[in-house]
Amino acid sequence: MELYTINTGNFKLDGGAMFGVVPKTIWNKLNPADENNMCSWAMRCLLVKEGNRLVLIDNGIGNKQDEKFFSHYYLHGDDTLDKSLAANGFSKDDITDVLLTHLHFDHCGGSIERNGDKLVPAFKNATYWSNERHWKWATEPNEREKASFLKENILPIQQSGQLKFIEERKGNFPEFIAIREVFGHTDAMMLPQINYKGKTVLFVADLLPSASHIPIPYVMAYDMFPLKTLQEKRSFLTEAEENNYILFFEHDPHVECGTVKKTDKGIRLDQTFKLSEI
Ligand SMILES: [Zn+2]
Repeated sequence: MELYTINTGNFKLDGGAMFGVVPKTIWNKLNPADENNMCSWAMRCLLVKEGNRLVLIDNGIGNKQDEKFFSHYYLHGDDTLDKSLAANGFSKDDITDVLLTHLHFDHCGGSIERNGDKLVPAFKNATYWSNERHWKWATEPNEREKASFLKENILPIQQSGQLKFIEERKGNFPEFIAIREVFGHTDAMMLPQINYKGKTVLFVADLLPSASHIPIPYVMAYDMFPLKTLQEKRSFLTEAEENNYILFFEHDPHVECGTVKKTDKGIRLDQTFKLSEI
């Protein structure tokens, strides 16, 4: 098996929203804000090659929205999905499976692209994997989360006929990826778990968007059910510490991978490294 980091670029989100109840005097030291109180975050995806399968986990914000939409997110950096795939010798057409942890725009925006006035799958040879419960949640969104579920990112996947739910695992799901589900950030977000070089790599998506979010109360204001997130963080971090899991951070601006350790204050970040250093 081979794993590759696919950086799709950076964006900015309000620091207060990203750190929830944590005061700016504390979070600003972890991820310094600009003059608009916005912090920089990565959209780092993971590519898994096993046999003839090439699985992309999440795909960033994409490029089909209008200028007004992108003006809210201050995209920056040189990385794009296409460039990062090419740097590893791949193109979008090589992808056999796209696994979407959840359908927030910064995770699934690259799924669909514009072709003239049509919205078409960006990965034309891929099966797109979601789950039935989250799909329903995203396509019948609540008022608070609606702005994160953009129908142009989601509905064309189904219309293309390339969508499958993991409930239909027998339908050829890449079995070398285990799926853990969590329910605090949004309903039924999937955390892919992979055995790689004798280690367990856990793609923590928006359960732990960055290494700075490891302390238990550091929960995003975006989360739908923050108390649920607290429980889920406690349980996953305990398991990660006991089993020396490698956490892969999707949004951390600097840290790709990390392990955790027990301290007097609770579980904290231990080693940090690049995926290529595993
Ligand atoms: Zn999210």
